[in-house]
Amino acid sequence: MWLADILFESASRHCDKLAIIFENRRLTYGALRLEVERAAAGLQALDIGPSKRVAVMLENGLDFVVAYYATLATGASVVTVSALLTVSEASYVLKDSTADLLIGGGRVWDTAQAAADGAGLQAFQLADLAEGLTYICPTPPDGRDEAVIMYTSGTTGKPKGAILTHDNLTMNALVSVGQGMFNLSPEDVVLCCIPLFHASGQSCLLNTGLLAGATVVIMRQFAAQAVLDVMRLEKVTFFLGVPTMYVGLLSLVRPNKAELPHWRVAVSGGAPIPVAVLEEVERLFEVDIYEGYGLTETSPTACFNQPDFERRPGTIGKAIWGVQCEVARIELEDRIELLAADEVGELVVRGHNVFAGYLNQADATRACMVDGWFRTGDIATKDEDGYVRIVDRKKDMIIRGGFNVYSREIEEVLSTHPAIALAAVVGRPDDLFGEEIVAVVQLHRDMAGISSSDMVEWAKRHLAKYKYPREFVFVETIPLGPSGKILKRELAELVARLSTASP
Ligand code: ATP
Repeated sequence: MWLADILFESASRHCDKLAIIFENRRLTYGALRLEVERAAAGLQALDIGPSKRVAVMLENGLDFVVAYYATLATGASVVTVSALLTVSEASYVLKDSTADLLIGGGRVWDTAQAAADGAGLQAFQLADLAEGLTYICPTPPDGRDEAVIMYTSGTTGKPKGAILTHDNLTMNALVSVGQGMFNLSPEDVVLCCIPLFHASGQSCLLNTGLLAGATVVIMRQFAAQAVLDVMRLEKVTFFLGVPTMYVGLLSLVRPNKAELPHWRVAVSGGAPIPVAVLEEVERLFEVDIYEGYGLTETSPTACFNQPDFERRPGTIGKAIWGVQCEVARIELEDRIELLAADEVGELVVRGHNVFAGYLNQADATRACMVDGWFRTGDIATKDEDGYVRIVDRKKDMIIRGGFNVYSREIEEVLSTHPAIALAAVVGRPDDLFGEEIVAVVQLHRDMAGISSSDMVEWAKRHLAKYKYPREFVFVETIPLGPSGKILKRELAELVARLSTASP
């Protein structure tokens, strides 16, 4: 399979249908294909083709789509570079990936250019590429060849380039788009406000949307009011967001119902959605939320609450078609021992979606690929029926006085408190217990006058003695990463700073 065929096939089937809406531009599939082929021909004139790599450093927008598919159309692979990186961070990615050239533009053009300079390669904007040339379709790459290299955020050391193959990404899109999952058709209007340099923006929204022949509305970024406006204006039928986006949408409408009659499917992923939030979204927006799970390294979807099966809020559903998800003993690092139903262990995955390894990082690849399974770093259980529940991320688990405390479980309980809009639980170093449990909370706008001790008392009533938070820190807004995920590491640092500052 060739990832570029997602666009080529849809262009031949739905030539006159609207493919992309971005701000004031609207492109049909036919017009998008022409733009892509024009840019691909310009890249071919620069000697880009099979076995070459093109770095794309762009914010969400039409240029991203054209640069992405034009690179693939030459037979080269794409290195997606986060548009939020600094010059030195982006330079690192360019050098590590040995990209052959960079396409940049828009507000990140200066950074992209300086990063390319630092890495000794040329940077182009799409408009710089030669015009009027004829595109020559290459021999399609093998499905096992690399298609896209996506860098993980590097919370532990330097960012790692995850190599995703054509088969990885095309299969994930094919499986996601169909009846058992997103059930997308050319009638659908898909909203994409997750960064396209991120796996879920690129794979779940762009690739699946175009594969289905749907219209993909791209927004530069998520902003709750703008999203509601665009959903109404463009009659959006499909929205995929991380839980904090749903919290943002709720804060605009609650306690009233929202009138979005075209909204048909809501998908949540990227982080656990508290059941209380899920239920309130379903009630106020009159739409069912399907929670899914995945990682960059699994292209990204691995599990999903598939409409074919009973939906179970609080779980990430079952493994998707062609993928196996099991739970393995955590302590064993160099071999996999699968556990029985309902036992707690590390979630491991195998199937068509598992990446080909980290670029230039054989040790990191060996550490996560064991006996043919990919170790996700997430703690989970799987029940008799195959439903998987994420207990916590291994790195978010708190060990207090020898007890394992799962931050996710506490967040789930805190989210039922009527004053709390968003909660994140982190550990703080403690002389007596090793770690102490601290909750960082963002209150609903109309809630004030609640003290840390009120909250501690409430938590004490709802959680066992060894796991209720001993301290609450109130913040105006919880810091979020580019895809809207809570930045727990920053919060842990904040909490540690506050404790050393206090007498
Ligand atoms: P890093 O790059 O630091 O490893 P990331 O969050 O940037 O982290 P991703 O590949 O985007 O990397 O995220 C994958 C992780 O997101 C999973 O390992 C899991 O912890 C979390 N995740 C995704 N979906 C869900 C879900 N539905 N419920 C719980 N956790 C989820």
